[in-house]
Amino acid sequence: MNASRQPKPRQATRAVNISGVAVGGGAPVVVQSMTNTDTADASATAAQIKALAEAGSELVRITVNNAAAADQVPAIHAQLESWGISVPLVGDFHFNGHKLLREHPECARLLAKYRINPGNVGRGSKRDTQFVQMIETACENDKPIRIGVNWGSLDQDLLTRLMDENAQRSEPDDARNVVYEAMVQSAVGSAQRAEEVGLGRDRIILSCKMSGVQDLIAVYRMLSDRCDYPLHLGLTEAGMGSKGIVSSTAALAVLLQEGIGDTIRISLTPEPGGDRAREVIVAQEILQSMGLRAFTPAVIACPGCGRTTSSYFQELAQQIEAHIRARMPDWKNSYEGVEDMTVAVMGCVVNGPGESKHANIGISLPGTGERPVAPVYIDGRKDVTLKGERIAEEFQQLVEDYVAKRYAPRHATS
Ligand code: SF4
Repeated sequence: MNASRQPKPRQATRAVNISGVAVGGGAPVVVQSMTNTDTADASATAAQIKALAEAGSELVRITVNNAAAADQVPAIHAQLESWGISVPLVGDFHFNGHKLLREHPECARLLAKYRINPGNVGRGSKRDTQFVQMIETACENDKPIRIGVNWGSLDQDLLTRLMDENAQRSEPDDARNVVYEAMVQSAVGSAQRAEEVGLGRDRIILSCKMSGVQDLIAVYRMLSDRCDYPLHLGLTEAGMGSKGIVSSTAALAVLLQEGIGDTIRISLTPEPGGDRAREVIVAQEILQSMGLRAFTPAVIACPGCGRTTSSYFQELAQQIEAHIRARMPDWKNSYEGVEDMTVAVMGCVVNGPGESKHANIGISLPGTGERPVAPVYIDGRKDVTLKGERIAEEFQQLVEDYVAKRYAPRHATS
């Protein structure tokens, strides 16, 4: 493989340990997510955390917005423990975090990390006092923090000062660049203040989230040039459906390709009744499609065209993908390296056999006017030709047999 086609190595950052999950320091990029339940509703929140963790979220953030929410953190933690779910929980604090952490010591103890938004810790003289109180609690509990700057809640005093300074220059800079500078200064300055208070340099992660793709890329390039703290990437308010997925992917892919970013979250707005775990799947798919991590076998399907007049092959591709996702929790525990498998489901013989040969296992369905047979390729060689009504079931079984034969049992290889 041509090295220039690979993402650059992650930029050098210090590793931060979040209850056993390493972020930065060259560790694989970590997938995280956030609940949207009322944290005061412990059972709904624990159930959603479980679903996110089972989908593959390696850290889960919950909002801790009031005393009722902080009160319920121990119950959420206990419920997850009883289910055998050990995903580290991150508390998201704004405005009253200093008070909540002080008044709810169990909450402060059980959370694995605190997210602090320096634009929302208080105004004027209270800002520093309240920020320092939160850092002191982090030090007492030996917790890492994320300084999470968001352009929607950027420190207005800092921004105003930088805007005024810029206006007085003989050649003022573009206002947008001043906003980027304010975001970076807010993040790096807050991290330095946290270190002055006594928090270890290896306990700090930074983020500077914006909602525009080009803005996000620009601000993270600046941030990564100016510090070696691990960086949490995410496009804030990415939006719903394909818009949210495309915008997040466009922004994060550029940064990840440049070696920037140690943990990611995809901020999708779920459709009503939609699955919150979608944001985890999208994050995994971004990392896997870029070759940064492998989570689940990849199903390669052709887009279909006029040569396939039925939707049969789309249904088969969907069915195989769903089958693989459903089987992955078991496979992952049983077979070494199964997440690297590729399965091709192709619509006709034009590209079908070629693509199938490059996959671990591939099927080429009959296109319009072709003989009603489906050749299956295994490890690059034609293995069998399926026909009749049960092609889908038989192919699924071939995938099962392939996994059992090809991948070593996970515990027998140590
Ligand atoms: S493999 Fe066949 S059906 Fe699929 S896009 Fe190509 S020509 Fe069309």
